[in-house]
Amino acid sequence: MEFWLDLNEEQQDLRAWVHGFAETVIRPAASEWDEREETPWPILQEAAKIGLYGFEFLVNTWSDTSGLSLPVANEELFWGDGGIGMAISGTSLAVAAIYGSGTPDQLVEWVPQCFGDAADPKVAAFCSTEPEAGSDVASMRSRAVYDEASDEWVLNGQKAYATNGGIANVHVVTASVDPSLGSRGQAAFVVPPGTKGLAATRKLKKLGLRASHTADVFLDDVRIPGSCLLGGKEALDRRLARAREKQNTPADRTKRSGQAAMRTFELSRPAVGAQALGIARAAYEYALEYAKTRVQFGRPIIENQAIAFALADMRTEIDAARLLVWRAAWMGRNERPFAAGEGSMSKLKAGEVAVAVTEKAVQILGGAGYLRDHPVERMYRDAKIYTIFEGTSEIQRLVIARAISGVHIR
Ligand SMILES: Cc1cc2nc3c(=O)[nH]c(=O)nc-3n(C[C@H](O)[C@H](O)[C@H](O)COP(=O)(O)OP(=O)(O)OC[C@H]3O[C@@H](n4cnc5c(N)ncnc54)[C@H](O)[C@@H]3O)c2cc1C
Repeated sequence: MEFWLDLNEEQQDLRAWVHGFAETVIRPAASEWDEREETPWPILQEAAKIGLYGFEFLVNTWSDTSGLSLPVANEELFWGDGGIGMAISGTSLAVAAIYGSGTPDQLVEWVPQCFGDAADPKVAAFCSTEPEAGSDVASMRSRAVYDEASDEWVLNGQKAYATNGGIANVHVVTASVDPSLGSRGQAAFVVPPGTKGLAATRKLKKLGLRASHTADVFLDDVRIPGSCLLGGKEALDRRLARAREKQNTPADRTKRSGQAAMRTFELSRPAVGAQALGIARAAYEYALEYAKTRVQFGRPIIENQAIAFALADMRTEIDAARLLVWRAAWMGRNERPFAAGEGSMSKLKAGEVAVAVTEKAVQILGGAGYLRDHPVERMYRDAKIYTIFEGTSEIQRLVIARAISGVHIR
């Protein structure tokens, strides 16, 4: 499909619809849920009722062959509020893992359980990061051992910073089946609701995104049916055999990160970049209006070039980041190779722009910007995570640097 910057009618309708929800339902509640530091279940329910929270919504956005629907929707959702946006979007991490690694039967069985329904919405968690395995995913210590007698997998380990950890109906957990193979020896498993041995006793207190629940998850002899291995045992055995064959060949050593894994991450990054973009745009718009009305030295502060130029830079950076996000989303959907790490570029730029723009917005509001009376304080806190999760800015640069140089930069 050709790349086209004019949104079509459907995309414009989608944008207006999500924007309307963000404006009328999310924004008025944003400060309250940030203070409460709790998952806003009534808002999830509202979103589920109108079809904004659920698998159907994701399928509809994914089915857009331009790839732009998801970033467009995410930008509006997070324009409403970052914390509530993440409470609504967090489930999609687990769903993406099931979609990416599961069989069609697993998709049908587990995805509805991730979302629940409008009367009783549920959330799901994707648990990959560990205390000793953050950016360095290959050093994962959680283990999955197959018990042939009972056809069960037994999971042990600790997961860190899981969005929705412990409150999720469905947890998707990654673990190492063969640690000698590094990231190629890992697999993803569904832990069904109510499974014994999975616990998340400590909810983490965060700088921002406070309406989104984050917790460490402990796996203590968690026994799950063999069918909970995403993709199935035969596929895993084949993959492990291939990895063992290739292990230690010189070609393998230079391609440690694995092209397939990199492509999966690259595909999800523009959607995350769009979230950052929404927060940045909200802060910019607020600062622009404030600068037009705040009077000092007998004139609105926007009449000073220092303020007006700051706003000009903010808008320019946001628009530049959006172009990178849309380009990467289009490339991913149209199976263009990310030869220069374009997915990473989009997330890197949008995350850094969100941090810079929200900081400038606080500055433009002066003392008022530092108070909780104005939303830019919250946006400033919410934006920071975008240079950290889903791959830190340094890791994005690593991906881009390796892609453009062909050198295995460390
Ligand atoms: C609010 C929140 C929600 C999260 N949600 C989830 C979730 O749902 N599921 C999940 O699995 N994880 C989640 N995470 C974890 C997140 O993805 C990790 O925090 C992130 O990947 C970074 O890992 P780390 O914190 O261990 O940092 P580290 O990897 O320890 O990095 C520390 C610093 O070192 C730098 N660094 C590391 N290696 C290199 C290198 N090779 N070159 C240059 N610099 C390097 C990093 O960029 C960073 O600046 C979440 C985290 C937070 C805070």
